[in-house]
Amino acid sequence: MKTSEADLIGKLRRAASHSQIGNGMALGIGDDAALFAPRRGYQTILSCDWFLEGTHFLRDKHPADAVGWKCLARALSDIAAMGGEPRCFLLSLALPAAGRWLDRFLGGLSRAARGFQCPLAGGDTTRRREISMNLTVVGEVRSGRAILRSGARAGDIIYVSGRLGEADLGLRRLRDAGRVSKKDAALKKHLYPRPRLELGQWLAKQRLASAMMDLSDGLSSDLPRLCAASGIGARIEAAKIPAVKIAAKQDPTGTEARDLALNGGDDYELLFTVPPSKARRMPRSFEGTALTAIGIINGGRSLKLVDLNGHEQPLRSRGWDPFRG
Ligand code: ADP
Ligand code: MG
Repeated sequence: MKTSEADLIGKLRRAASHSQIGNGMALGIGDDAALFAPRRGYQTILSCDWFLEGTHFLRDKHPADAVGWKCLARALSDIAAMGGEPRCFLLSLALPAAGRWLDRFLGGLSRAARGFQCPLAGGDTTRRREISMNLTVVGEVRSGRAILRSGARAGDIIYVSGRLGEADLGLRRLRDAGRVSKKDAALKKHLYPRPRLELGQWLAKQRLASAMMDLSDGLSSDLPRLCAASGIGARIEAAKIPAVKIAAKQDPTGTEARDLALNGGDDYELLFTVPPSKARRMPRSFEGTALTAIGIINGGRSLKLVDLNGHEQPLRSRGWDPFRG
C-alpha cells in the first residue's frame, strides 16, 4: 500500500514537477511541503478549483488525457483573468486505482504543466471510488498591476476574446454523438482549452483594461458578476457577440449559435472593459485571437441585451450554475 502510494507520487513528480520545468521553485515534491520564492516587486495570486467526475467531466466520455490537460488549463484561467503569470500548482487527487487512466491523465497534465510553464509543487493523494481533484494555482503579477473585476466605469467599452459558445457546443457533440472527430474545433475547445495568459498579461502591462474576469460559466452569468463588483450596469448587443460557427444546415436561423454564445460555459475567454480614452490602442486581435467590442458600461445598475431587431431587453443569467441543476 505504502509502496504504491510512493510509486504514484513518483509518477506525479516525473510527469510535472519543477525538476522537469524550472520556474524558480526553491523546493518541490518530496519533503513535507514545497518552498516558493516570491519575486520582489510582485504580488502572489492564489486560486483553487475543483474538477470532479460526474460534475465537471464524465469518465466514459472524456479522455483521461483531456482531463489532465483541462484541470490545469481551467485553473490557470483565473491567473490569466488577473493579468498574471503562472508559477506553480498543488494537486489534491482522489482516485480508485493507479492504472492506465492515471498514466493517460498524467500525459495531459504533463503537457499542460510544460506548455504553461507551471510545475507541480506538491499535493495530496488518496483512494476513492470517484475521481476528484482540486488544484491550487499560484501566480504572480507586478504589484498594483492586477486587473480586478471592480474597476469598470460608466462609458467603458466591453470586450471579449475569441468566439463564445464553442466549448459548450463541443460538450453537446460529445454527449450526443459519443464519437466525434478529434479535429472538431468545438470539441477541441471543450477538451483542451487554452487560458488566455498572454492576452491577460499584455492587457495588464499596457494598462489597457479597467476590469477583467474570465468567462467560465457563460457571458450572461459572468457579465453581471463583473458589473456587480464594479457597481455599474451594462448594455450589450447580440449582433456584436462573436458566436461559435455552426453549419447553416444544423442551425438555419443561427438561434443555437447565439444561445450558446450568450449562455454557454467553459470557454475560458476573457471579458474585459477598456476606458474610451484607451480604445484607440485596442487591436482587433491579439496573437490570432479576435478581440471584439460587444457593448458599453452604463452608470445605472441595469443589464440590457439589444436583440437582433434592435429591441432592448433585460439580460437574463442563463449560464452554468451548479446549484440551479
Ligand atoms: P504527508 O503525509 O506529510 O501529507 P505525503 O506522503 O502525502 O505527505 O506527500 C509526500 C510528498 O508527495 C509531498 O511533497 C507532497 O506534496 C507530494 N504529493 C503527494 N500527493 C501529491 C499529488 N497528488 N501531487 C503532487 N505531489 C503530491
Ligand atoms: Mg499527505
